[in-house]
Amino acid sequence: MAIKQRDGSYAVVLDVSITTPQELKKIAEALEKHGAKLVKFSESQRMVVVGIDPERLDELCREAGVKLAPAVGSVVRSVKFCPGKALCTLGLQDTIGIAERLKKFEGLKLPSKMKIAVSGCPNSCTEPAFRDIGLMGTKDGFTVFVGGSAGMKPRIGWKLAEKIKPDEAVKLVERIIEFYKGNAKKGQRLGDFIESIGFEEFKNAIRE
Ligand code: SF4
Repeated sequence: MAIKQRDGSYAVVLDVSITTPQELKKIAEALEKHGAKLVKFSESQRMVVVGIDPERLDELCREAGVKLAPAVGSVVRSVKFCPGKALCTLGLQDTIGIAERLKKFEGLKLPSKMKIAVSGCPNSCTEPAFRDIGLMGTKDGFTVFVGGSAGMKPRIGWKLAEKIKPDEAVKLVERIIEFYKGNAKKGQRLGDFIESIGFEEFKNAIRE
């Protein structure tokens, strides 16, 4: 989806986070050909390109070899992740691997937007405690936070579970999303929904 800018041009968000110089070159060539004016990176570390003709998005994506990222609307947004133990010397968990598995939720329609972040250690470079769902790596697995947010109504998420292995973390995220999708009111962020029913009730429902 193209996002209108102040000057009347359009921006698009490409699902590009970790890439290689070869892929980047291909993307750059396609962007240049399609008249992109500038590139920046979003809060979820995806590539934002300004100055793209919204009528030619499919063509651009095909030539660049990329997909669009779910960056607007009441959907699961792009999963934000740090390099984790694959690259970072402080990493305790495989963030790239779990982010890849969580990708299946991206773009899913929900009562409100949902931001997910994964960090490879408690340094929390991706701020998982301030996302709707946050997975924070520890030496024993992931600590799972829910209901956090930044923005106009900042909130530190509730700690839902600790020492969660990757397989169980993916299933837990799925249960959270399903319960939220089936029970929250339109426009209600996960944190507001948890507040409305109480954290203990939410926790019990997710456990079942
Ligand atoms: S959260 Fe930890 S593993 Fe991830 S980039 Fe920061 S220090 Fe490295």
